[in-house]
Amino acid sequence: MERESASTHATQAGAAATAIPVTVIPGDGVGPEIVRSAQRIIEAAGVPIAWEQAEAGAEVFRRGDTSGVPHETRESIERTRVVLKGPLETPVGFGEKSANVTLRKLFETYANVRPARELPGVPTRYSGEGVDMIVVRENVEDLYAGIEHMETPDVAQGLKIITRKGSEKVIRYAFELARREGRTKVTCATKANIMKLTEGMFKRVFEEMAPEYPEIQAEHLIIDNVAHQMVKNPVQFDVIVTTNLNGDIISDLASGLVGGLGFASSGNYGDGVAIFEAVHGSAPKYAGKDVINPTALILSSVMMLRYLDQAAAADAIEQAVLVTLEEGRAVTQDLARQTGGDVEHAASTTAFTDQVIANLGRQPSSVPVSVRVTDSGLVRRPEWTYGPERYAGIGRELVGMDVMVESDLAPDALGDELTALAGEALALSMLESRGTKVYPSTGLATDHVRWYRGRFVARDGRALAEADLVGLLGRIGEHHRWTEALRLQSFDGEPGYTKAQGE
Ligand code: NAD
Repeated sequence: MERESASTHATQAGAAATAIPVTVIPGDGVGPEIVRSAQRIIEAAGVPIAWEQAEAGAEVFRRGDTSGVPHETRESIERTRVVLKGPLETPVGFGEKSANVTLRKLFETYANVRPARELPGVPTRYSGEGVDMIVVRENVEDLYAGIEHMETPDVAQGLKIITRKGSEKVIRYAFELARREGRTKVTCATKANIMKLTEGMFKRVFEEMAPEYPEIQAEHLIIDNVAHQMVKNPVQFDVIVTTNLNGDIISDLASGLVGGLGFASSGNYGDGVAIFEAVHGSAPKYAGKDVINPTALILSSVMMLRYLDQAAAADAIEQAVLVTLEEGRAVTQDLARQTGGDVEHAASTTAFTDQVIANLGRQPSSVPVSVRVTDSGLVRRPEWTYGPERYAGIGRELVGMDVMVESDLAPDALGDELTALAGEALALSMLESRGTKVYPSTGLATDHVRWYRGRFVARDGRALAEADLVGLLGRIGEHHRWTEALRLQSFDGEPGYTKAQGE
């Protein structure tokens, strides 16, 4: 099987010496149909591509590969560095991780770029207003780091990881994209008011970097307000850059503003690797029926062609899609349903594809010419350094430890016991449950669960040694079940931890 596909590729590549190698993953459900549609259109537009057919998703999981992305597929992507992929099913439940997330992480495609732009022939509540925005979502970190633990049988914890480096890469990408496309504003969307260290870091990096782009207006908005503003007045947005989970949600919101999942395209960009896919999933109920709307994947393949410096073909395909939507001679089921059209006689995936091919070379009458979404020419600017020299000069101090404890004791009783166990170097400063202080008692009606965090701080500001932390855990462990310990550090005198609510 492997040898067959490798030799097929060799023959294809041999037949067209200048062909651009691209890994194509048909994917699950409706994936093969929409991928085939995009491939046919690219071929009709005359772009020579040597497709390397590769597998990922449901069938791979079924064979027992828990990553969903087989070795041969990884090798193909390492060779081609460009992927056009259909949706991949994510098994529900414990165990397997999403093959989509695995692919994005393996190849460090840190910027998920999702344009949302008004389309002709696709009526929405905002038609005529000219919605035209790009959501740039950090694609690797945040809660998607997937570091989750059951701390007790009833308490689950997920770690939100935000790094300066990860933030810098995607924010740099967003500013460069804005500059390249001649866009005038970048909005940074975070929840920095609540998550001061994680979302706060993203906001700080944005504010530090913005002066490098004086021609671009840089603003920060709280993510919930962004959601509100997107619905109220979406045309105010140009480029939005945001953390992974925020971006997941608002990029879907953005798709909804311009016609929904059938039209939402995306590119996942890393340094020298890019993966292009529709935003939607495998829509299993429509699989094999030739009824799905292929526009989202076709527009994703337009992004791919721009990335491959095939601007003329990209423009031609994009214009042909816009003409097809504008004229409405081939309307797929989903759009017919949205517009109250004739669903029974809606165009098949194949008929829609044929119409786009027939429209190659034509220009739509009612929309502006193409907006370019590409990173092929993005100027790489010097990045901050993350070598040891950066960290050598930062003063750090060990000032205490947070210890998570599973306990059936009431807060007062546990607090008194932990106080007695604190030892000479440390003192228990407070106990909290689910982020809210419960000891010393605030006298308020605070609920708690049988999982607490005890905050131990250095007594009288004394310097702490490793042995103080280890000794404390040993003493607690003799009487209680501790589940996690976190060092409290300060960096150049700034506390590297937040306070509990009420602390
Ligand atoms: P889905 O996007 O597959 O389908 C949701 C609904 O949206 C469908 O029932 C359909 O009515 C509509 N729809 C989606 N795409 C359409 C199109 N091109 N044309 C017309 N209508 C369309 O979402 P889901 O049902 O939540 O997920 C199904 C599977 O897809 C799951 O296994 C999920 O994990 C996976 N998924 C994969 C990706 C990806 O590969 N990037 C993204 C999302 C979901």
